Amino acid sequence: MAIFTLPQEMILFYKNNMLLLEEASVQPDIRRYVMEEEGPRHYIDIDVYGDSAVFTFPRKWSVAQEVYSRDTLLANGIIPWAILWTKHELTAAFKQGNDAGILRYSADIAHYIADAHVPLHTTINYNGQFTGQEGIHRLWETRIPEIESKDYTFWVGKATYIADTEVRIWEVIESSHLKVDSVLQIENQLSESFSEDRKYAYRKTGKTERRDYSEPYAEAYAALLRGMVERQMRASVKLIGDFWFTCWVDAGQPDITDFKILSDKYLDKLKKKDSLRIPLQRTGLHN
Ligand SMILES: [Zn+2]
Repeated sequence: MAIFTLPQEMILFYKNNMLLLEEASVQPDIRRYVMEEEGPRHYIDIDVYGDSAVFTFPRKWSVAQEVYSRDTLLANGIIPWAILWTKHELTAAFKQGNDAGILRYSADIAHYIADAHVPLHTTINYNGQFTGQEGIHRLWETRIPEIESKDYTFWVGKATYIADTEVRIWEVIESSHLKVDSVLQIENQLSESFSEDRKYAYRKTGKTERRDYSEPYAEAYAALLRGMVERQMRASVKLIGDFWFTCWVDAGQPDITDFKILSDKYLDKLKKKDSLRIPLQRTGLHN
């Protein structure tokens, strides 16, 4: 959906490569299983650093690294910097006229920006594991969209230039983190009015059947959240467009209108390249 926020000069390349971009945008989650350094890029457990840390935490990587340590930062997640670093890569790819690079980093940054809009990606209690709410992560970010997103509207207007991307990304982290209490408390209250057998249902996916939140439960939760999931999805669509556009402008608005459709082989290559460090077979998770 972010593609449709782009200006005339950009939209063709993105539209032509839409399917590839979609596939590439889920690669970062697949990489998590094969590259140790990938995991921390998807979240920041900002509450580990104290109650109001989201407002006081050093914004600059160099400063944060001096105050805490690289290991501490990595252990608690680095999503704000992952987005900013990827922004540099994407800008460079635009400057070099590197079509595969543009696609790759557009997909990566889209993934991280979307993750940053999930409140539970900003807390140590990311799956409700400390409050007896195990599974809430999936309920919020997967189950609700599965049921409702067909009715969401993703028209968010045109991409706009971001003057200060560092400030902007920390605003997103703040806004997401401030929603954590509601996300947890509302589910906690709701679960009191649902018996276990109404809260969960067995669902068939392919050949396997597994226990998951029931549709009535997910719907009731979404209703109490008053459109939060949709608002966060819309906000991430807009910000993804804004970042793509900003990188292109910063690169000097290169002409990419003649770029062709990248072939599927590109995606295979991308998968291979990213799994070089640890062969896929060795993880046992992917074949
Ligand atoms: Zn992720």
